[in-house]
Amino acid sequence: MLLKIHNATLGYPQKEVLKNVSLELHTDKTTCILGKNGAGKTTLFKSVLGILPLLKGTISLDGKNIGEWNRRQFAHAVAYVPQARSLPFPFTVFDVVLFGRTAHLSVFSSPGKKDRMIAEECLEKLQITYLKDRVFTQLSGGEQQMVIVARALAQQPSFLIMDEPTSSLDFGNQLKIINQVNKLKNDSLGILMATHSPDHAFMCEADVAVIHNGMIWKQGDSKEVITEEVLKDIYDVNVKICTASAESSRKICLPVLD
Ligand code: ADP
Repeated sequence: MLLKIHNATLGYPQKEVLKNVSLELHTDKTTCILGKNGAGKTTLFKSVLGILPLLKGTISLDGKNIGEWNRRQFAHAVAYVPQARSLPFPFTVFDVVLFGRTAHLSVFSSPGKKDRMIAEECLEKLQITYLKDRVFTQLSGGEQQMVIVARALAQQPSFLIMDEPTSSLDFGNQLKIINQVNKLKNDSLGILMATHSPDHAFMCEADVAVIHNGMIWKQGDSKEVITEEVLKDIYDVNVKICTASAESSRKICLPVLD
């Protein structure tokens, strides 16, 4: 499946935010969106999800304009993982994950045995079955984020759109999410993820799209696109990019302090 943004201008009736956006998302590939606060990451996500009408251009899924997709069918294909802290779900974890099956149910039907089984499998996949009977709002930020990912997986989508899935998480939970993203990619899921950490793009061996000055300024393989000069230009900081260790060729960012 292919999710394709073609020559699009994105934004609001009174404000163009991003111009000439062309981006292709493939299943089994992770694409990280980098850009400073206010650059237009959320605007891009809202547009891809079909919540914000385009000012110009097209976004298509499997060759068909996303506006022409039936919303239920679209939700089969594209799932959204918002920042967990914005969701006041007063339900058990199992019910929150089961809600992910909604797109697969007909209007008057309730979840059946198969839906419950899929919800169980998603909890297992994320190794959070032990949270099943807990109330969502009483979980830590990291636990909530894992549950929200499980809920999106229960949709059995082809694409997962993740809005800064590691923000507000401790170091350990950030790495758990990154490891999970890498496993999901191997399950033929296309992932679009906003992140504030260039290291996450390196860890995910992701493609990156760098949003800067109202456009996608650079895009391509993270190892080629994320350079010391690019990070200086977008974040106005000095960073050394090094190789992780003798055993690993993964790149890492080393901030240079004043
Ligand atoms: P990011 O997610 O990268 O922080 P956003 O996409 O939220 O950035 O915002 C990009 C720009 O669009 C900002 O200048 C912001 O003020 C503006 N913006 C966001 N929402 C609206 C809106 N509803 N109407 C007009 N401008 C908006």
